[in-house]
Amino acid sequence: MLALDGIIHRYRDGSTVSLPSWRSESGEHWAIIGPSGSGKSTFLHILTGLLRPASGRVVVGDHELHTMGERTLDRFRGRHIGLVFQALHLVAALTVTDNLRLARYFADLPRDDARIRAVLERLDISGLASQYPHRLSQGQAQRVAIARALVNEPLAILADEPTSALDDRNCQQVMALLAEQARESGASLIVATHDGRVREHMEHTLELAPGTTEAHHA
Ligand code: ADP
Ligand code: MG
Repeated sequence: MLALDGIIHRYRDGSTVSLPSWRSESGEHWAIIGPSGSGKSTFLHILTGLLRPASGRVVVGDHELHTMGERTLDRFRGRHIGLVFQALHLVAALTVTDNLRLARYFADLPRDDARIRAVLERLDISGLASQYPHRLSQGQAQRVAIARALVNEPLAILADEPTSALDDRNCQQVMALLAEQARESGASLIVATHDGRVREHMEHTLELAPGTTEAHHA
């Protein structure tokens, strides 16, 4: 189960984002849709614990993120949440395999190269195992980022605007891939996007209204 309840986030400059309360069962696929500035990225960052809300509850599986200490939260995130952000954040100095090893290392999980090989195979990129990120096409790099999100068998895969730079054909492919991989691993899939094309790939939609944000001193 994933849930946000009564979340209000206050950024350092004082601007405040209120998010609608939301609840999903394990394994569901959700599109979080809304125009730019409506709070989609804030929603994902709160759900990962990368941002701490000023008030409200954040629940992932059996865990209440808003009650966790920083270190516990970091480990929890690495272990249970697969992130695919728009900037893919692959480590340039490391091969594809080492990028995936690093994801396990950060989550305090034992080295498991068989698992890494299996994930790369599932995504059809075994051939890229010893390649460095700068040698990859954008599409290949995105597959590697998805592989890295899957390698720790997360409860949830969270993607922020994974399709906004893609043409229709590639949008179609990436969404099909995310949905299929989430389904195969029994993970929830949450995709935040302003891209209306994503809607048709997802079972559930949460619309964020423009102007959920208030400037502090209006
Ligand atoms: P979206 O992803 O839907 O474009 P965001 O979650 O990025 O929306 O932003 C929601 C609101 O929060 C916007 O009004 C934005 O200006 C504000 N915001 C986002 N990030 C910051 C930040 N680091 N500091 C101050 N305000 C921010
Ligand atoms: Mg955003």
